[in-house]
Amino acid sequence: MRLAVVGSGYVGLVTSACFADLGNDVVCHDIDAEKIDILKRGQVPIYEPGLEELIKRNVSEQRLAFGTQLDDAIVGREVVFLCVGTPQRRSGKADLTYVLQAAEDVARNARETLVLAVKSTVPVGTNTRLRRLVAETTNVPIEVASNPEFLREGAAIKDFQNPDRIVVGTASPHARETLGRLYAPLVRMNRPLLVTTPETAELVKYAANAMLASRISFMNALSGLCERVGADIKDVAKGIGLDDRIGPRFLQASPGYGGSCFPKDVRSLVDIMESHQLNASLFRAIDQVNEHHKKSHLARLQRLLPDLAGRRVAVWGLAFKPRTDDIRESPALTLIEQLLEVGARVVAYDPEAATNMRLVFPGIEYAHTPYDAAQDASAVVVMTEWDVFRTLDLGRVRSLMREPIIIDCRNIYDPEDLVRLGFEYSAVGRPTPGRVGRDK
Ligand code: NAD
Repeated sequence: MRLAVVGSGYVGLVTSACFADLGNDVVCHDIDAEKIDILKRGQVPIYEPGLEELIKRNVSEQRLAFGTQLDDAIVGREVVFLCVGTPQRRSGKADLTYVLQAAEDVARNARETLVLAVKSTVPVGTNTRLRRLVAETTNVPIEVASNPEFLREGAAIKDFQNPDRIVVGTASPHARETLGRLYAPLVRMNRPLLVTTPETAELVKYAANAMLASRISFMNALSGLCERVGADIKDVAKGIGLDDRIGPRFLQASPGYGGSCFPKDVRSLVDIMESHQLNASLFRAIDQVNEHHKKSHLARLQRLLPDLAGRRVAVWGLAFKPRTDDIRESPALTLIEQLLEVGARVVAYDPEAATNMRLVFPGIEYAHTPYDAAQDASAVVVMTEWDVFRTLDLGRVRSLMREPIIIDCRNIYDPEDLVRLGFEYSAVGRPTPGRVGRDK
């Protein structure tokens, strides 16, 4: 099928490359000319495992192209996907400027019937609003469908090719039939397709993200109690995760959730609930616990090292999760800001996200390896669970450091091993055996 994708960010690029790889002819469009230039030169402006190879292959086999001209991009296309950003306004509301603009642009440039499939995460009612907007803009029949995206950065290609479910919400039989045909190769591989109303599809996306975020906040809230009473959050997770009704996934204590989706989507859900005069306190609490928890790691470090002024502190991991370069709402942003406020000298290391972080904190030092970051540091704080941190020679790390302190916000190390190596160690929700730390 012939498709166009509007918006060449994390979702747009993965969607374009994966649909092209299924044999479709795809044009990926963006208003950001610099981004499109990079893509036309054969480079990829974001880091997502496997994406560069997939784009290269599909460009060279002439199923995938990039452009900034929307009229060219959508001519003769059966489906146009909207994958533009829906950032959060200060009030918590989703900012629909890009979605409304892009939908209007598509309507103005459409010459023949098409399905406008909305992958951007949008508040309940937006698809109906878009249907009205396109009808007011053009006489060309444009059928609107909600097709929320569930991919996880870092595993986005696998998630696209093997989705837990595909959700299509539309009142249009033509859109239902067209998207059914497009997704047929995945449905034939037994991937579930839920066809429903636009409102339900929009809400499925918010409900999924709020449910996942609630599990993270739930475990992080309990981790504080674990530390007070000497319990181990990893075993608590195991103990509840073995209950079939709960299941083992998404129960890790962590520095808090970040990224471009969970924080803004939970806040947007609060706003949607309140705009319908409903009690949103459950969803507000998810966000409040997370914000509070993200700010708690400085105090964790200060318990072992009260005076941080002038001390070198290594931050291992800047991305909000491993296998991405995305730092949006990353807990590392909060920590670095706090460290700078108390006068610490920050040296940061991340395998992929340093370039993005440099735009936010140009004045801190960026190391080429975790060992370089640890050199002469008074503490290392692990903020992202990149695999590289799991396999380091920690004896060597210890020998490089000025003071042997590791704050493990991802619980990737065995506390006993670290204490044996002579580290002072603090993890989220875990007791530290035999610590001879300053806080004793
Ligand atoms: P992004 O910021 O990486 O990319 C958005 C792109 O849209 C940018 O390149 C921007 O230049 C482009 N754009 C803006 N206005 C445009 C216009 N009028 N015409 C053409 N291009 C335009 O965003 P993203 O992370 O890919 O997210 C896109 C949407 O998908 C958001 O609603 C997000 O909530 C949702 N989503 C994101 C993820 C994720 O993991 N990133 C997962 C699921 C859903």
